[in-house]
Order: sequence, then C-alpha cells, then structure tokens
Amino acid sequence: MRKAMETPLSPGLYIVATPIGNLGDITLRAIATLRGVSAVACEDTRVTGRLMHHLGLRQPLIRYDDHADAATREALLERIAVEPVALVSDAGTPLISDPGYRLVRAARERGLPVTSLPGASAAIMALTLAGLPSDRFLFGGFLPGKTQARAEILNELGAVPATLVFYDTAPRLLASLAAIAQTLPGREVAVARELTKLFEECRSGTPEALTEHYTAHAPRGEIVLLIAPPGAAPPPSMAEAEALLRAELAHAKPSQAAGTVAKATGLDRKALYALAMALK
Ligand code: SAM
Repeated sequence: MRKAMETPLSPGLYIVATPIGNLGDITLRAIATLRGVSAVACEDTRVTGRLMHHLGLRQPLIRYDDHADAATREALLERIAVEPVALVSDAGTPLISDPGYRLVRAARERGLPVTSLPGASAAIMALTLAGLPSDRFLFGGFLPGKTQARAEILNELGAVPATLVFYDTAPRLLASLAAIAQTLPGREVAVARELTKLFEECRSGTPEALTEHYTAHAPRGEIVLLIAPPGAAPPPSMAEAEALLRAELAHAKPSQAAGTVAKATGLDRKALYALAMALK
C-alpha cells in the first residue's frame, strides 16, 4: 500500500485523524491523503464538508457510521478494494469513541489494505497536559450519564493502577465530579476543557475543589476528565499552596511565584496568581 505524499494512492482504507478544534492541527500527510483518495467516508457530511472546504478539497463524501446496515458497509468495502478511500470522524482520531471499528475489522478480515494516519486525539492531549502519571493510563471512553452505571464503572476501573481518562460533557460534569468524590475519595482529578481552542484550560484538584469552581463558573464546551491512579499523592491543599506561595513571594513577583507553584503542584495558575496578589 502506498503511503500518503506519493500519488496516486493505491486502493485501501486510509484512517485519517482530523483536528479537535484548531484547524491548524492537521498533518501534511493527512491533507495529501484527503487530496489523493477517491472518496471520504465520514460521520456527518456537513461537518467534514466544512473541513474539506477549509482545505480546498472537493472529494465526494460518503456518510458512514458503525450503525450502517450491512449493504452500506459492503458497498464501502467493495470501493476500498479498488480505490483509495479515507475514513474520518467529526473530530480527532476515528475509532476513538467514534465510528470505524466495524469497518476496519471487516476490511482486515477481507485482507484489504488498511493504514492509519496519526493526529489529534483529545484523550492523548489531555493526558499530556494534566500532570498526572502518564506511564500507564486507561482510556474509559465516555463516562456514563446514568448514576448507577457511572458508579459501577468508577468502582470497577478505580482499582486499576493507571491514570483513568474519560470523555465527558459539560452538562454532566458536576454529577461526574460528585460521583468521583463519593466513589474514589482523595483522588486528584483533572478537567481538560476546550482543548486546542480559544478557551482551552486544564484545571486539577480534588473533586470537591473542582465542584466549587465549576458551580461558580458553569463549564462549557468539550471535556476530558482524568483521575489519578490509586495511591498517587493527593493534590496539595490551598493551605499548602499558600505556604509555598509565601516562600516564593519572598524573592519573586506574584506572577512568577504563581507560575513556579503552579508548575510544582499542578494547581491552577490563575487561582494561584489571585492568591499571590491577595497575599502581597
Ligand atoms: N475521536 C475523538 C478524539 O480522538 O478525541 C473523540 C470523539 S468523541 C465523540 C467526542 C468527545 O471527545 C467530546 O465529548 C469530549 O469529551 C472529547 N473531546 C473532543 N474534542 C475535545 C476538545 N477539543 N477538548 C476537550 N475534549 C474534547
């Protein structure tokens, strides 16, 4: 199978990651591949149409998701056998809480060529940002919205010695934080929100502290929720942060002191800056 950036592309399935917010986050190979395929299978033709328009591309779009009937998948597989076809999702890496698994499995079973072009994924970006152990992590997909199902998942996965990474939604965040406080008390949590976008933030602390913050500032946008592994050091309390800040303020400006303590503790820089200003 010829890889992207060479033309023409040989027949096969090309799984292409697309941006999760910032349109600059698409690779050169992804653009070359989207230009070189004969069709793009996608979840929502309007969403992918906007990306293609932004890239100046006009390849035909075919709606596909894993709930597609057997005939639709069959038609796509027949096309993949003779032409290069890309698979994209609305945002990020296909198959990661997105459609594609059934198509990839069927293509592989038939011996059709399949390749994947890596790129943005909210789960991986959040893991790199959160300041939680990244040597071992478990991606749990979407945290369920129903109380009992959510508690069951937290109980089951809470014992795994790994950072847990979940997708969540803004309307559910407070309920998720309450469930974590109850099921996994003492764990550090991080909320990674609006990644790669204008209001990107990654805020960490106890579920109680985060609940306080997001009760005062209603969360908006897209969210990844991360939970520290069992036995990891609990996040420092604000009282401990205050002691560290006082020490830093003896020789540094508030902004520098806040930056140093934020780096050392993983606590939010803006909150630390406000505290530093109050202390000065
Ligand atoms: N396939 C995508 C990926 O690789 O990241 C994920 C698709 S899943 C249907 C959508 C969920 O991913 C959102 O509800 C949110 O939890 C997370 N997500 C996607 N983009 C995000 C962003 N820019 N910031 C934070 N979370 C994001």
